[in-house]
Amino acid sequence: MLNIPCPHCGPRSEYEFQFGGEPATRPIPASEVSDAQWSDYLYARTNIKGRNRELWCHSGGCGQWFLMERDTVTHEIFRTETIGSGTIGA
Ligand SMILES: [Zn+2]
Repeated sequence: MLNIPCPHCGPRSEYEFQFGGEPATRPIPASEVSDAQWSDYLYARTNIKGRNRELWCHSGGCGQWFLMERDTVTHEIFRTETIGSGTIGA
């Protein structure tokens, strides 16, 4: 079992968290992009093997979304941070 360091609550069991995928930048304005660009935004992910940044939600705790940098092979967690603040939680 992994302990995930929520930047708001501290270390908690992995069972309290929901994976949100890779962060993606929404095309702006969304009404002016092509169907292919919109499809890429919604569905295309790099699925990196190794060190990666991901969105996670502490759905069984504070309910906040945050960023986590971890290795997708070893599951080592390097750090977590709140979205937009750059605050490092671990
Ligand atoms: Zn939390």
